[in-house]
Amino acid sequence: MDNTFGINIIPGNEVGRQKALERYQILGSPPENSFNHVARLTAQIFKVPISLVSLVGAEQVFFKANFGMGNAKSSSRGQSLCSLAVLQPGVTVFEDARKEPCLLANPLVAGNFGLQFYAGAPLTTHDGYAIGTLCIIDKAVRKFSDQDRQVLEGLAKIVMDEIELRLSSINEAKKQQRIADQLATINEELLATNDELSRAQDKLLVVNNRLAESETMKNMAIEQAQLGMWHIDAITRNFIPSNKLKEFFGYDLDDEMTYEAAINCIRSDYREKIVEEVNTAIQQGKYYHQEYPIIRNRDGKQKWVRATGQLNISKAGGAAYFSGTMLDITEQKQDEQLKNDFIAIVSHELKTPLTSMNGYLQMLGMQARKNQDSMSLSTLDKAKKQTNKMTTMINGFLDVARLEEGKIYIDRKQFDIAGLIEESEEESLATITTHKVIFTPVETTLVDADRDKIGQVITNLINNAVKYSPEGSTIQVTCVTTENNAQVSVQDEGMGISPQDLNKLFDRFYRVENRNTEKINGFGIGLYLCYEIVNRHGGRIWAESSVGLGSTFYFTLPVVI
Ligand code: ADP
Repeated sequence: MDNTFGINIIPGNEVGRQKALERYQILGSPPENSFNHVARLTAQIFKVPISLVSLVGAEQVFFKANFGMGNAKSSSRGQSLCSLAVLQPGVTVFEDARKEPCLLANPLVAGNFGLQFYAGAPLTTHDGYAIGTLCIIDKAVRKFSDQDRQVLEGLAKIVMDEIELRLSSINEAKKQQRIADQLATINEELLATNDELSRAQDKLLVVNNRLAESETMKNMAIEQAQLGMWHIDAITRNFIPSNKLKEFFGYDLDDEMTYEAAINCIRSDYREKIVEEVNTAIQQGKYYHQEYPIIRNRDGKQKWVRATGQLNISKAGGAAYFSGTMLDITEQKQDEQLKNDFIAIVSHELKTPLTSMNGYLQMLGMQARKNQDSMSLSTLDKAKKQTNKMTTMINGFLDVARLEEGKIYIDRKQFDIAGLIEESEEESLATITTHKVIFTPVETTLVDADRDKIGQVITNLINNAVKYSPEGSTIQVTCVTTENNAQVSVQDEGMGISPQDLNKLFDRFYRVENRNTEKINGFGIGLYLCYEIVNRHGGRIWAESSVGLGSTFYFTLPVVI
């Protein structure tokens, strides 16, 4: 920058001043009416041909408003008199420029333009930087009074206010733009969310339709299966029966049937137990499965029902409810009754000839011993074993029949289970020749139980181990005390039981049917009796097994503390 003034035209605070100028974002901006207007007004007030709003940049002086100087947009900082006007506070005035030593070399003054008068008031920012001027120029010499100075200063302040205002509206516009941008982003996100929502809604619709379909299918299945349905609120015990259920209980569809009314229909000898089972199922979330007779409300007729249910805890935070189904099993029960009666009668009838046969065998035995007829003795021994088997079988049938009628009694006495196992050991030594049966460990444990019936369970498990494992293999019987239970186990090295059969073994008349078992006789009542006996003692019976490797049957009995 060539400086025509011969003095330093860079103020001490130039760096801050340039920053302030940048801050206003005005340098190089297009003309604006508000500034043009002040420039024209200033020229008119002072009756001069030229007035400028100038901004003193690093190299150039930029004219934000130009009244009277043609198309000029800027001039070099080293030539413009405004560069001098920003050097000090207050108005800089050259009444007769040609007489000013520092302006003699200035082309505006010395050249064709013929500048003779200049007055410039600095545009001072709120933080004290002179960023430009409001100036007036004349080609004639003029006088400039103090009052004129004050007016020009006042007008410069108006320009500065306008610059500040302009900046705040720029900032405001930017803020608005930012908000608008953010809104646009939010809008886009909303649109995307909306899309997602509508896709989710579509999926929901599909799921809903499927649900409705499966609900219809379920209802059809329930209808087909002649199932009654019920629903009990776990807290309030509010009871909702389906129409079918009302029908079972002898209520009309329009009749109200409360939980109490349903309970009252249960035959009195079962009532207390069922209420207890329902409470336990609700409190402990256990699966509920009960068969019981009800006395129908309308006609007092007896029906048997099977009820199953489960506690449902709503994931959505709703109230827990206990619900399930009910099936009329009256006919099935009648069939069972007939079968039980038949079994009971036949078994009973068979017992008499069997007792006589035993008697005859004994007589023949005595005779053969007297005659020292060893051939007959051994045949008679075999016949005796067969009749013993038959007696056990018939006793088993009688037990089942008694069980069904609730006539099996548990005659409890305190005894050491180790003693009972010793007896089994002696018995097995005498009767089992095909397998090696070991009885260890056997711990002394006092139980309060029906000694004969527990003996029957142990014998049954040992006999099964013999029946379902190969000759020559080992059977191990143990009795240990675990926590508050005596635990008896019978382990064999036999054919084993598949997982799907394991939990059905204890059902009445259940037999595993496969190639390995087809030649082994049985009726599937032994384990059923064991289960009932152990269960009635408050114990547990179960089996663990691996096909081909062997099985272990366990049962527990509470110990006497
Ligand atoms: P049964 O032996 O008269 O058929 P059970 O009630 O005693 O009746 O046994 C039911 C079924 O369980 C048997 O048919 C047999 O398939 C299976 N089972 C019982 N004990 C064993 C065992 N130790 N090993 C393999 N299978 C067994």
